[in-house]
Amino acid sequence: MRVRHLSPTCIRPRTTGTMPNSTTISVRCPFCGTLNHIDIGRAADRPQCGECNKPVLLDRPLKVAQDDFDRTVLQASAPVLVDFYADWCAPCKMVAPFVDELANEFLGKLLVVKVDTDSAPDVAMKYEIRSIPTLIIFNEGAEVDRSLGLEPERVRGLIQGLLA
Ligand SMILES: [Zn+2]
Repeated sequence: MRVRHLSPTCIRPRTTGTMPNSTTISVRCPFCGTLNHIDIGRAADRPQCGECNKPVLLDRPLKVAQDDFDRTVLQASAPVLVDFYADWCAPCKMVAPFVDELANEFLGKLLVVKVDTDSAPDVAMKYEIRSIPTLIIFNEGAEVDRSLGLEPERVRGLIQGLLA
């Protein structure tokens, strides 16, 4: 019987890809389209895009395209509030100022994004968005809770509970 020599191997440590920092988020620059990795804890310092140097403002909702949803929302190392909306939706316009308010209020702790359900049909289908506006809170890649229509106190309470 031949002795089988096993060549040495290394087990690669499990990593989370390009996110060594526990509060890193990946957001696309709305000006030049470059994907930036940002420490959300320093969002108030007005981080700049690494490519075009324009500020990446997170004190207001950031629009996320379908192709970026997994990377920006599901892989974020911070809770994310997603506003599923459409341009033609009147109730969405009533919820928008509240969503703006949350982005400002929880700056540095919560990423607030908007997804246009018309241009992100796969994401809308995956999360079974049947009426808009729908707000979904994600944490560590999973849905924590959702809110239909305008429920400011409930949504604020959910976020505060998550960040506590
Ligand atoms: Zn840029």
